[in-house]
Amino acid sequence: MLPPVAPPIRLLLGPGPSEIHPRVLAAMAEPTVGHLDPYYLSLMNDMQQLLRGVFRTENKMTLAVSGTGSAGMECCVVNLIEPGDSMVVCVNGVFGGRMVDVAERAGAKVTRVERPWGEVFEPAHLKDALKAKPKVVGIVMAETSTGAHQPLEEISKLVHDAGALLLVDAVTSLGGMPVEVDGWQIDAIYSGSQKCLSCPPGLAPVSFGPRAMEALGRRKTKVQSWYLDLSMLAKYWGEERVYHHTAPINMTYALYEGLRLLDEEGLEKSFARHALNHQALAAGLAAIGIDYAAAAEHRLPTLNAVRVPAGVDDAWVRRELLTRFGIEIGAGLGDFKGKVWRVGLMGHASRAKNVLLFLSALEQLLGEQKHRFQAGASIAAANAVYSGRA
Ligand SMILES: *Cc1c(COP(=O)(O)O)cnc(C)c1O
Repeated sequence: MLPPVAPPIRLLLGPGPSEIHPRVLAAMAEPTVGHLDPYYLSLMNDMQQLLRGVFRTENKMTLAVSGTGSAGMECCVVNLIEPGDSMVVCVNGVFGGRMVDVAERAGAKVTRVERPWGEVFEPAHLKDALKAKPKVVGIVMAETSTGAHQPLEEISKLVHDAGALLLVDAVTSLGGMPVEVDGWQIDAIYSGSQKCLSCPPGLAPVSFGPRAMEALGRRKTKVQSWYLDLSMLAKYWGEERVYHHTAPINMTYALYEGLRLLDEEGLEKSFARHALNHQALAAGLAAIGIDYAAAAEHRLPTLNAVRVPAGVDDAWVRRELLTRFGIEIGAGLGDFKGKVWRVGLMGHASRAKNVLLFLSALEQLLGEQKHRFQAGASIAAANAVYSGRA
């Protein structure tokens, strides 16, 4: 007999999945009902309403795609793009690169606009690419590979002046920092359940605004993906309740509960909590000589991408964090492979006790690696932030 599932208890401080709230796990263990059961249909409606709240939108077409964040990306792209359409994609890390790949597979003629990793786009960087009048401009709000926060308001204006639709990746921002779908006039947006929403991976919240819906209505060709075709998904999420695919019932319980937790806390309070824990971590890391990959004014509160100090063994530290302290952090990807650590403070994981435990474990390991710093300095600096002394 093989053993039953008994995973080790980890503290998930990587780029996702992040810590699951116990109430979310409990919700998932509730009995499965049918995907057309009246109870489930009404839960879907309530969840949609909660999703509109966290996206800060009135968009009718707001739902959760069955799949992870990448399915949300693919859903947005394949519905907006017909073969031959032109799309501009802003690339300053892994996820912009992924969007290029998805768009090309959907038949888009893609123009990549690039910025160095860790940097963000200013409106001026897009001016030339917009002259070609693309149909869609895709951009990542929270680039999880670099820890950089992309401001969207001005870019949104520029994109709309050029007559294009704005597609935003909010996988690592939704729930942890302000995402104003209506306020910033975002036309299509996607996220994931396992980053700042304190749920396991498996659902991708998406929302489509009026301009995007008009574009869908003007399509001349079928959406390339049967599974992600919004016109069919809409018939299940809307009044008709036409069977399309079997919804992941228990994942919906999870997302509903994760969103309910956010609603209970209040979005502004959640943003403030994420900001405070990020500031405490940043102060702690600065006190022991660890720098961020992104400039101070563009750092994400949800994901801290920091440089591995010279002479320190990247993989050893991550391995010891996991095996000795049970803490998972992320390695660098792409251009940042071997050069950065990615420390996520997302959703339920964004708490003072996690920041202090991580700093204390990191100090121990950095000491063993002969990195020079004043012992205890990171804890003192983080505590100073928490007690309002810094
Ligand atoms: C995690 C992530 C994704 C992909 O989500 P998956 O759930 O891994 O499919 C896309 N974009 C960003 C910015 C992410 O952080």
